[in-house]
Amino acid sequence: MSEKRDYYDVLGVSRGAGPDEIKKAYRRLARQYHPDVNKADDAENRFKEINEAYEVLSDEQKRAAYDRFGHAGLSGGFAGGGDPFAGFGFGDIFETFFSTMGGTGTRRGGATRGADLRYTLTLSFEEAVFGCEREIEITRLESCPRCQGSGAEPGTQSVRCPRCGGSGQVRQRGAFFNMVVVSTCPQCQGEGQIVSTPCQECRGQGRSRARRKLVVKVPAGVDEGSQIRLSGEGEAGLRHGARGDLYIALRIEPHPDFQRRGNDIVYELPINIAQAALGAEVVVPTLEGEEDLYIQPGTQFGRTYRLRGLGVPYLRGNGRGDQIVVVNVVVPTQLTEEQEELLEELADSLGTDVGEKRRSVFERIFGS
Ligand SMILES: [Zn+2]
Ligand SMILES: [Zn+2]
Repeated sequence: MSEKRDYYDVLGVSRGAGPDEIKKAYRRLARQYHPDVNKADDAENRFKEINEAYEVLSDEQKRAAYDRFGHAGLSGGFAGGGDPFAGFGFGDIFETFFSTMGGTGTRRGGATRGADLRYTLTLSFEEAVFGCEREIEITRLESCPRCQGSGAEPGTQSVRCPRCGGSGQVRQRGAFFNMVVVSTCPQCQGEGQIVSTPCQECRGQGRSRARRKLVVKVPAGVDEGSQIRLSGEGEAGLRHGARGDLYIALRIEPHPDFQRRGNDIVYELPINIAQAALGAEVVVPTLEGEEDLYIQPGTQFGRTYRLRGLGVPYLRGNGRGDQIVVVNVVVPTQLTEEQEELLEELADSLGTDVGEKRRSVFERIFGS
């Protein structure tokens, strides 16, 4: 490059132009002279020039130096030559060009939040109802203590990535329409910098896998599918990015006697026909010991009784659900001779002639 043009002239803005005006002018010109759009011979050089001007005028310090000393004030500021697309500002253009393609990619040098983790915790029925504290062990990426996550051996410096020239992005020609595909630089993973001497502990990764024990406080009243979020207990971020979260998904083991129905607990109580007909004082198990329950005379199959406040505590707010006792009238299948006679007497007294019927069924099955 022989004689450098004035950067303000290049962008067509006045010396007093504000940052927004400069950015606007830059975007318009970059779009106009982008070599994939503009096939003129000098488009590539113009594009390079525009980028160079924008790099200086959009940077407060560089602009001040340029205003005072002209191009001389920036000596050594540019690599010059090389790949004109490798430099600064490329991501900016492509945000404009391909904004519909979604995602702005990794910002140069930007902090990246750590990944969220998921852990499935299985609880007993009682633990879910009453809450509990459980210790879990997880494996996650943690910031390397030796290099504080930088990946560089302490006392050494990072250097500009040679592959992408520090932009964190590389461009490749796509298969269709001369389309240019910009992707994260594979060498520096979008950071724009690479470690010259990798940290001995994490081999330059900045993070390392570690097993950690955590105590999970499960509140009373959780149900199957409930999730607990442990903020910041996920994986470590990159370049001082925030930690991800840890999501504890809860699975609840079934109980042999009880079932959850929201905040109510359902219990099926077997009673015999005599209890159902005559009424009875029975003892019902609950999660907190036994309760007396009076079964009304003439109770039918499927009738329900409520034991107030013996259900599951509400996760939000006060109070608890109920225990619902569902009556199952069990017809006896093995009767002693005496019991049989008693039931036959009962049948007679009820005016139903079950005797003949019983015999005929018996004959039909056994043929005698
Ligand atoms: Zn390290
Ligand atoms: Zn790179």
